[in-house]
Amino acid sequence: MTSIGHYIAGRHLSTASAAETSAPVFNPATGEESGRVILADGSRVDEAVAAAAAALPAWAATPAPARARVMFKFKDLLERNLDQLAALITSEHGKTVEDAKGEIVRGIEVVEFACGIPHLLKGEFSDQVGRGIDTFSMRHPVGVCVGITPFNFPAMVPLWMIPMALATGNTFVLKPSEKDPSASLRLADLLAEAGLPAGVFNVVQGGKPAVDALLTHPKVAAVSFVGSTAVGEYIYRTAAAHGKRAQALCGAKNHLVVMPDADLDKTVDALMGAGYGSAGERCMAVSVAVAVGGVGDALMEKLVPRVQALRVGPGNDPDSEMGPLVTREHLAKVSGYVDLGVEEGAKLVVDGRGLKLQGHENGYFIGGCLFDHVTPDMRIYKEEIFGPVLSVLRTDTFDEALKLVNDHEYGNGAAIFTQDGAAARAFDYGVVAGMVGINVPIPVPIAYHSFGGWKRSIFGDRNVYGLEGVGFYTRLKTTTARWPQGVRTGAEFVMPVLR
Ligand code: NAD
Repeated sequence: MTSIGHYIAGRHLSTASAAETSAPVFNPATGEESGRVILADGSRVDEAVAAAAAALPAWAATPAPARARVMFKFKDLLERNLDQLAALITSEHGKTVEDAKGEIVRGIEVVEFACGIPHLLKGEFSDQVGRGIDTFSMRHPVGVCVGITPFNFPAMVPLWMIPMALATGNTFVLKPSEKDPSASLRLADLLAEAGLPAGVFNVVQGGKPAVDALLTHPKVAAVSFVGSTAVGEYIYRTAAAHGKRAQALCGAKNHLVVMPDADLDKTVDALMGAGYGSAGERCMAVSVAVAVGGVGDALMEKLVPRVQALRVGPGNDPDSEMGPLVTREHLAKVSGYVDLGVEEGAKLVVDGRGLKLQGHENGYFIGGCLFDHVTPDMRIYKEEIFGPVLSVLRTDTFDEALKLVNDHEYGNGAAIFTQDGAAARAFDYGVVAGMVGINVPIPVPIAYHSFGGWKRSIFGDRNVYGLEGVGFYTRLKTTTARWPQGVRTGAEFVMPVLR
């Protein structure tokens, strides 16, 4: 049985201390326990933060081009280890290997962006703001940064944070999901191989006690969280109450509005990938389709057979389009939502519950589920299910569809499928969501833009990666300088003004 431990000050710690406990990690395709993850206690968290704090002065003083060179090597190593890292993700998360590769590639794009950090940290300079006086602003690292990440992207979400935080001169403690903790340790190894000094990047495994110790630690300067809304709101409030910068990217219920003039074959392709890819365990998954102006029946005619034909299987089988859910508890939760939808009166057109795969009878599988005639008062519409369950609603008009999206408590992503530029433009302008797709189902922004939702899909005012990431992981220092005579004789008691 593998013991999955911490990585602190350049060393793997895979034996629990007397005060630490452990939790099982499963292979979701078989239901077998593949390892045990050590759950950090407060003193282990202290150790990790102390290592990050000790490494901070030298790393912050390392020239930005030298930090960027570590990122260049890290990118190369991630690419060379892509297959192995993807297989590791599949073995603990369950997603297909191709999908796991996709998440790593999207993470590598952030590393590529971080390679340009010298340009991004250049600062601003204004000469002659007064006679003989210049002013310049520079971005400095904030200190020890923490990342608390979800199970659904064990490589990509940490890579939204790590390259940006490290390239800007901070040190980092990652607290990954205890459901699929191993990828974080591979990232640590690859960073060390890329030349990152010991202590600059650390991993503590654990659950709520480890998170709480990080949120309240006096030496932690900033906290980035990605996960569910209830936990994210708690993290944001607690971190802020302890004087830390915080950003918390949270849950979602992403709508895809289907206009009557949409190309239905392409729309159905989009709904299949965005609704059922990664078994719906994506914060940008489409979980609601809104059929406008009578297009619902034609849409369902094409969609139903596709959902029925979905190839569900272990993530390491190249024929699988969709793997299992992450844990037995999550399978029970998702199946429970399907039961609830039936009770609430939605029409379950495709029922994936109770799927058993030969040779994988103990795996956490569920087939694709499709509900029609869902209404906004139903809990299956209001709440995030985070599984392969697509709800179809129908509205008469575009305005009703837009209102539906905007009235929902979440506002992560939203998409419209149409051939009408005016409808697309009105949707883009009016929709209350942070990321919009026009004939694009999962509009995850590229690394040189930034990722983040609106409403209860985010707490905090900074998105992740891109220029927003540079802003989050740096603090501005603005200097006003007068040379060469220095301060002239006599004190000035009035506010300095331009003369
Ligand atoms: P989660 O909130 O259960 O866990 C996220 C992290 O918080 C984990 O590291 C976990 O150990 C920790 N945690 C869990 N409960 C805690 C508690 N009570 N106190 C302190 N820490 C706690 O989320 P998850 O199930 O791992 O991930 C799925 C969720 O993440 C979904 O809601 C999904 O929408 C969201 N998500 C959002 C984005 C985004 O960018 N908006 C991206 C990916 C996932």
